[in-house]
Amino acid sequence: MYSREIVDKALALHRSGWSHQYVARACGVSERAVGHWANGRRRTRAKDAERTAYCPKCGEGTLDPLAYSYLLGLYLGDGYIGAVSKGVHYLSIICSDTWPGLKVECETALARVYPVSVFKVQREGCTEIKSTSKHWPCIFPQHGKGYKHSRRIALEPWQAAIVNQHPEALIRGLIHSDGCRVINRIRRKRRNGETVHYEYPRYHFTNSSTDIVRVFTDALDRLDIAWKIHVIRQEPRYRDKYVVSVSQRDAVARMDAFVGPKY
Ligand SMILES: [Zn+2]
Repeated sequence: MYSREIVDKALALHRSGWSHQYVARACGVSERAVGHWANGRRRTRAKDAERTAYCPKCGEGTLDPLAYSYLLGLYLGDGYIGAVSKGVHYLSIICSDTWPGLKVECETALARVYPVSVFKVQREGCTEIKSTSKHWPCIFPQHGKGYKHSRRIALEPWQAAIVNQHPEALIRGLIHSDGCRVINRIRRKRRNGETVHYEYPRYHFTNSSTDIVRVFTDALDRLDIAWKIHVIRQEPRYRDKYVVSVSQRDAVARMDAFVGPKY
């Protein structure tokens, strides 16, 4: 028997579009158990549709905090809010066509955070996932003129509360947009002349905004995951890039439980 807490956590992750495999790893349960719970969940999904629209500034209701934390990560990485007409905005998130699973996860999170229809625009090598509402600037108050790295990005207290509740989902969103899991292969020659290969997985997150980098490293600190940062200096007309890497073996194992390779 699993505790109600574990089942609830597994279902929440499953609802957000995580694969059975990742839900199982993140919750320390079998994939079969996840499949079983998810099937039971399907029957009660109709009730979910009654969820009222939520706007942190002008509405009521409940926001899905797990989906929000993930979507905030995607927004800070690859998202953009633009104006359609006076007072109406669209949120656009660019997803690479290389990772079809991530596209589905983005759509799912978007629909859960705000129940308006999601549409897709095919671009070269990527898909723009868009949704129109007058509330996007309320939902992501970091909206503003120009590039995100050219303005100050600070989370509002209600956002910080959600992120502190679900730092894993935020990290997952940030890695899915501006990060990656890479394998370093190192070749060593033994004394007897034999060549051996070692593989070290690690995570990278790259961004030009020190504020966004801070949001990422704060979430890592909250989970006690060790990280390092280095700067890639660019020519004067370009912004320097900051690369945060997680490479210690136990830290990578922790990240693997809730991020893993892109899919
Ligand atoms: Zn609003």
